[in-house]
Amino acid sequence: MRKQIAAANWKMNLSPEEGKSLLAEIVDANFKLEKKQEVIIAVPFLYLSMASGMVENINGVHIAAQDCSAYDNGAYTGQVSAEMLSQSGISYVIVGHSERRQYNHETNKELAGKLNQALANHLTVIFCCGEPLSVREEGSQEMYVKIQLDESLCMLSPGQHDNLIIAYEPIWAIGTGKTASTQQAQEMHAFIRHTLNEKFGEDAGNEIPILYGGSVKPANAAEIFGQPDVDGGLVGGASLEAKDFLEIIRSLKA
Ligand code: PEP
Repeated sequence: MRKQIAAANWKMNLSPEEGKSLLAEIVDANFKLEKKQEVIIAVPFLYLSMASGMVENINGVHIAAQDCSAYDNGAYTGQVSAEMLSQSGISYVIVGHSERRQYNHETNKELAGKLNQALANHLTVIFCCGEPLSVREEGSQEMYVKIQLDESLCMLSPGQHDNLIIAYEPIWAIGTGKTASTQQAQEMHAFIRHTLNEKFGEDAGNEIPILYGGSVKPANAAEIFGQPDVDGGLVGGASLEAKDFLEIIRSLKA
């Protein structure tokens, strides 16, 4: 079985104290992860060190950054390089979240640069893709996501997909309370799986976890995660409540 992953995305939420007590509640819950299960928590840059210290001794729980630069180093005020993350002990990063594509105008080509920087520095990447509502309404979601993957994953060298996780997040379902139906999620995940198999070969493609993101909550997590090509979720809103996120972790396939 592929890895099954519950990933939290705190976005730009929670004060340092609130972040600390949320993470403490999660850690204190003492949940047991099965061998193939993982938990990833993506926190604001400033909280990376505090959060990593808190999960240091917990098997299967990792802290992620929410972005990294497409560049090595240089005059890029405000940016954080993949190398800086890696040298600071961070092993996971989200690349291509739809909010960064929208508000920071990140293109598929720029995201290829970020992905390559992250992988070259041995980070595991959660690479996000997904279509806006207008594309879903005209029925072109497969072509749209294929272009996102083709244009950003095109420079990967053999073996680099070992550190790749895909998150399919239909933009119309993020933070809206609208969730894709289990059938819509499974169809897109199967399509993404097929695209990965074509790119990397079946053995490698079948090992890449594909997470669903878009208003995942305790009430719908088990049903969505139960689909054959859904390997867990990337969770925004519901990851800000320990009780909800813990229930989502418990909904992973064992
Ligand atoms: C996200 O931030 O990636 C996300 C899926 O958010 P939400 O769960 O709030 O829809």
